[in-house]
Amino acid sequence: MLSNLKYMQGVKGLKDIDIEGKRVLIRVDFNVPVDSHGNITDDRRIRSALSSINYCIDHNACSITLVTHFGRPKGKYDEKYSLKHIRKRLERLLNRRVEFIEDFEKSKDEIATCSLERVFLLENIRFREGEKQNDEQLSQKLGSICDVYVNDAFGTSHRKHASTYGVADYAQIKVAGFLMMREIEAFSKALENPLSPIALVVGGAKISSKITLLKAVLQKIDKLIIGGAMSNTFLKAMGYDMKESLFETDYIDTANEVIQLARENSVKVYLPVDVVVTDSIERSVDVKVVPSQDVLEGFKAVDIGPATVKLFSEAIELSNTIIWNGPMGIYEIDKFSKGTFKIANAIADCYAYTIVGGGDTADAVDRASEAENFSFISTGGGASLELLEGKILPGFEKLDRKDS
Ligand code: ADP
Ligand code: MG
Repeated sequence: MLSNLKYMQGVKGLKDIDIEGKRVLIRVDFNVPVDSHGNITDDRRIRSALSSINYCIDHNACSITLVTHFGRPKGKYDEKYSLKHIRKRLERLLNRRVEFIEDFEKSKDEIATCSLERVFLLENIRFREGEKQNDEQLSQKLGSICDVYVNDAFGTSHRKHASTYGVADYAQIKVAGFLMMREIEAFSKALENPLSPIALVVGGAKISSKITLLKAVLQKIDKLIIGGAMSNTFLKAMGYDMKESLFETDYIDTANEVIQLARENSVKVYLPVDVVVTDSIERSVDVKVVPSQDVLEGFKAVDIGPATVKLFSEAIELSNTIIWNGPMGIYEIDKFSKGTFKIANAIADCYAYTIVGGGDTADAVDRASEAENFSFISTGGGASLELLEGKILPGFEKLDRKDS
């Protein structure tokens, strides 16, 4: 049987088809991290999509229409999540005009008129209720505005949404973009014949969507190192009172199952022994380092402490393959960024194959000035964990194959 990675390597890419004169729809992932004023803090995801877009321009596509989601709007218009400012950044990076389309059904004819290889950007696809439900009608509508569907949204390729999955049923030709293929190649290098010990470092705040994945990857790894808000849920599961810290009550049982399964699979689990706590995230008056079991009344854990940095760094140093997703703390705020940056340094210093994934984690690595020192920076967080788990990502499932 083909491994999941080999299967995904078998899909057709842009170079396997002829796009001249065709309407090309590219599902990109421009879900970039932004600060509290809405400024883009890391445009890696946009830059990563340029190779596919430029290829279509150079090969005389009739028109190029880009679709992406951004943030988590509730299936309806929300100014905060409009793609208007993302369009500006894209225009600058692409060095050409990008036309903004609020409602693609109304602009159907325009997209079909071939002239000057026009580039269109559709408004946030998650403003439509059908997107996350993989609604057939929406999939069909998207399919009807293109001759070629290109999926290049690696960061969202683990989702079965209308624009990442359903649409492929309604497009004549459907292929992977260059970013998708680059990602799969890098993960193949790390995961096909991995050098052990293999360490998985996880953190961040998307607990519910990632914690169940941990159970599935335990057979593939030797060490599981947990920080960030993710670790608060595990510490809570161990019976520690995490007070005001961010954790997910509904997943405490899952955390216990992960710990139990890790034991059965002889995977060593590392959790914070000390944490940085604060009375307030935005207006902190009091910031302290305390043992993980002694979070003060009214305080929350927002970073790993120095003893934990040392513990984690030692575990990292002795690994030959390291996969990292999720910051160790609220790295966006200077005072709470030390743990994340030190772990970035520790992984970067390692003589190992090192992959970092996730929008925020990649941003943190950049801020730590370590981007050059990783083997590969993936645009996918959840997607990379699912690859590790051995899954065929839905975003690849319906694409044309080279062997058919
Ligand atoms: P990625 O985008 O790399 O996949 P996530 O989105 O899962 O990572 O998590 C990143 C977010 O987690 C960051 O915004 C960071 O501030 C937050 N975070 C990390 N640790 C904590 C913590 N202890 N408490 C609250 N938020 C945290
Ligand atoms: Mg994130």
